[in-house]
Amino acid sequence: MANKKKKAAKAVQAIKVTPENKCRLCTGTKCCQYITLHIDTPRSMADFDTLLWQVSHHNIQFYKDSDGWFMLVVEAPCEHITETGQCAIYEIRPMICRSYSNDECEFDSSAEEGFDLFFDSHQALDDYCRKRYKKWDKRFKKLAGK
Ligand code: SF4
Ligand code: SF4
Repeated sequence: MANKKKKAAKAVQAIKVTPENKCRLCTGTKCCQYITLHIDTPRSMADFDTLLWQVSHHNIQFYKDSDGWFMLVVEAPCEHITETGQCAIYEIRPMICRSYSNDECEFDSSAEEGFDLFFDSHQALDDYCRKRYKKWDKRFKKLAGK
């Protein structure tokens, strides 16, 4: 199986990738495997405490890039991906799918490489909050109004 994958990867390397053929060469239809939700920029300890609760759930991540903060729900494949990786509703696919450009997409590099910040676990976000807020450990009293 590993050899098969290596051979397939080598075959792709040998082909000149263009925007026209890229999606056909892409295995796994990576851009249809998740959704993103724009969220308000978290500023307070209360905001980050809520994100900590959310990121503790499976398949939830957060990132910040030049467009702001986003919740990323991963391993959430679209129900319209066919067995061959095509879009089963291509003619009536939603606008967000139509406007997605493959000029620079997950085929070229992982999305994380373009993020300013990225949190995929409670630990990662908690570490960030500890650096950001001196009194992070004392937040519960404050948030409880004590
Ligand atoms: S846009 Fe990129 S990630 Fe999506 S199917 Fe095409 S090549 Fe793959
Ligand atoms: S509707 Fe089609 S293009 Fe849009 S996410 Fe689903 S499979 Fe991908």
